Amino acid sequence: MSPGASPPDEPPRECDVVVVGAGIVGLASAAELARRHPDASVAVLEAARSIGAHQTGHSSGVIHAGIYYRPESLKAELCVAGARAMYEYCERRGIRAERSGKVIVATEESELAGLDELERRGAANGVPGLRRIDADELREVEPHAAGISALHSPATGVVDFTDVARSLASELAAAGATVSTRCAVRAISTAGESISLTHARGATRGRAAVVCAGAWSDRLAVAAGASPDPRIVPFRGAYLRLRPERRDLVRTSIYPVPDPELPFLGMHLTRGLDGEVHLGPSALLVGARDAYRLWRVRPRDIAQTLSWPGTWRLARDRWRHGLAELRRGLSRHSFVAALRRFVPELTAADVVPGYAGVRAQALGRDGSLLDDFVVSRTERALHVRNAPSPAATSCLALAARIADMLEEDPGVG
Ligand SMILES: Cc1cc2nc3c(=O)[nH]c(=O)nc-3n(C[C@H](O)[C@H](O)[C@H](O)COP(=O)(O)OP(=O)(O)OC[C@H]3O[C@@H](n4cnc5c(N)ncnc54)[C@H](O)[C@@H]3O)c2cc1C
Repeated sequence: MSPGASPPDEPPRECDVVVVGAGIVGLASAAELARRHPDASVAVLEAARSIGAHQTGHSSGVIHAGIYYRPESLKAELCVAGARAMYEYCERRGIRAERSGKVIVATEESELAGLDELERRGAANGVPGLRRIDADELREVEPHAAGISALHSPATGVVDFTDVARSLASELAAAGATVSTRCAVRAISTAGESISLTHARGATRGRAAVVCAGAWSDRLAVAAGASPDPRIVPFRGAYLRLRPERRDLVRTSIYPVPDPELPFLGMHLTRGLDGEVHLGPSALLVGARDAYRLWRVRPRDIAQTLSWPGTWRLARDRWRHGLAELRRGLSRHSFVAALRRFVPELTAADVVPGYAGVRAQALGRDGSLLDDFVVSRTERALHVRNAPSPAATSCLALAARIADMLEEDPGVG
């Protein structure tokens, strides 16, 4: 660096587009904009000390194929397109990704209708290679899994989304964009044809902003003048790991038939690229948006969760489910018992503690857990207000959608 030159991550005072959040969605959006508009200047502002520090760096690493999502939803469209784009991107950029496949297993008659519905959705969404298999075929794919019927998805795969985030950041650097860490955005205001973001390292003004702030997206949307509805509530997802000598219990990924009332896919077993088998995640409503430790409580976070009418409506409607999650969250035996339904040989002695992530889940004032991706507008800004799983899989397709929306705005793009 020549004397007096800015370090590469110094946030600019002026640029064309400001992206908030260097998770995989923000980085993919910034990279898409930089590719489409090579003459435009793009700046990414990130609160954490590193990129991918929150959901992106704490996921299951599954490239979802698009089975679960209601046909015609954004999730269905962007997951199928996004998975295709993700495999292509990984190949082009030399990132290891494997189409290892997965099974979704019904263990009881009462789950067959749910499996039928997933099969119907998968077909409607155009999921490649999806096939119904019986108990014997299931044992051929996953010798230690037990079920009465299953769906086999050969197009489901695994990747390390942090590798993808790093690759997107290096693409941005090569395109002359900045990615500034330790740069928490505190305020957003507009004046004339510009939008100004005040942050921990000064202020950056642009012609447009794209806010991809994950668990903090509602706060920035409100700061920019949007409705407080929906609010983000943090659901902690904890994992266990199989001991190395028991990893042969799982070849690829084994998932349950999910509860259709919830936007979570249920606790599963997944073999990662490094051969580790992760079990989980649980889904426990917690007291901080960064509750990587179970008992972390942040007064502002918990106050915002408890003062939201949707939280109480959710608690009233789902208290049984909440109690079951609490049991699993606190007891390794309950956690393992939930998975033993479809891997009967699994015991509590086979597992050791794993990592934990926190899902940014949007909750409506009416108590509904928002299922689909939500991107909304304020003056000169787009806000990604709900991007839970499979947003990591879908990020490249979601980024293209965001770039399209930005170009629709006069004076932007
Ligand atoms: C336990 C778990 C398992 C998952 N498994 C999968 C999976 O297998 N497959 C899949 O496709 N998806 C999975 N997901 C979902 C996926 O991880 C997320 O949908 C995706 O990472 C969302 O990316 P993001 O960029 O929106 O959010 P994040 O990665 O959370 O990034 C948001 C960023 O915004 C920054 N930020 C927030 N506020 C500010 C501010 N004021 N100023 C500046 N920066 C700010 C944060 O620091 C953060 O880095 C999982 C999620 C969890 C939690």
